Amino acid sequence: MSEHALVLFSGGQDSATCLAWALDRFDLVETIGFAYGQRHAVELDCRLPLRDKISALKPAWRARFGADHMLDLAVVPELGQTALTSDAEIIMGADNLPTTFVPGRNLLFFTAAAALAYRRNIRHLVGGMCETDYSGYPDCRDDTIKALQVALNLGMDRRYVIHTPLMWLDKAQTWDLSAELGGDDLVELIRTDSHSCYLGVREQMHAWGAGCGSCPACQLRLQGWARFQQSRK
Ligand code: ZN
Repeated sequence: MSEHALVLFSGGQDSATCLAWALDRFDLVETIGFAYGQRHAVELDCRLPLRDKISALKPAWRARFGADHMLDLAVVPELGQTALTSDAEIIMGADNLPTTFVPGRNLLFFTAAAALAYRRNIRHLVGGMCETDYSGYPDCRDDTIKALQVALNLGMDRRYVIHTPLMWLDKAQTWDLSAELGGDDLVELIRTDSHSCYLGVREQMHAWGAGCGSCPACQLRLQGWARFQQSRK
């Protein structure tokens, strides 16, 4: 049976690695992205060039590339202000979560992705959630995603499988995985063309990629890159 996958692809390091992971194992791979009022909307500009360049790395990958879907989730900022959807300060909040936490974001993303997959007869949903080396967002946790898989399967009467290949990897191991999947070419492509910085900074280029260098997303990325480089010596 031909197995089709839909990858939640934001244009960041994690989702780019997930895209390569999916291209390595499924017969057809589609991508989905969300505009949700993110302050780093520049990540959406990175998506299509990065997607095209990943597809060009291997003929087998190119042959498996399917459609891209962009969905507008403009309702997200209307649900309440966060530091990811406004210029509010990025700090630790009273609930021990960073102010960049967008309540329900991954729940909405997977629900929308599953609804789209329903119409397109896609069984596998792939996301870059990770609870090893992360910001503590509760909707990135393995239990949340597993519970969501059950809820989606009950609610849509399907047998979706949600894959989170990065769940138990730290950021250095995520780079290892991209090296394993696509060699130095993929590592270099993700380094230069993917976007992580919450502030949307792309003009400042560092060894680990573009970004402000100080927001939590840049901090995670630069520390992961440093450990990855160290492990390769
Ligand atoms: Zn940054």
